[in-house]
Amino acid sequence: MAWSTSNRKSQLPPDWPQRCKFVLERDGYRCQHIRTDTERKCNAYANQCDHKDQTRSWDHSPANLQALCEYHHGVKSSSEGGRAAAARRKAARKRRHPGLLP
Ligand SMILES: [Zn+2]
Repeated sequence: MAWSTSNRKSQLPPDWPQRCKFVLERDGYRCQHIRTDTERKCNAYANQCDHKDQTRSWDHSPANLQALCEYHHGVKSSSEGGRAAAARRKAARKRRHPGLLP
C-alpha cells in the first residue's frame, strides 16, 4: 500500500475506519464523484473515503466525507500531490541562486 510512505494516516482520527464505514453505507457504496463529461455521479463501486473539501482536510465529520471508487480516489490523491509539488517548486523559485547575485 502507498500508505506506508505517507504520514497522512497519522492525521486521521482513531475512529476513521468507523467513520469510513458510516460514509460508505450512507452513500450506498457508490462513488460520489461528479464526472466532468456527463455531470453525473460516477456511481461505480466505492470502497474509499475521501474529504469533499480538501481545504478542510482536518474536518473528518461525515458532512465533509464522501465515498469514492478506487479510481477517482487515486486521481484525486495524485492531483493533490501535484498541487503540493507545484507549491514546493514555487517556494523554491523564490530563493535566488547565489550565482545570480551581483
Ligand atoms: Zn468513481
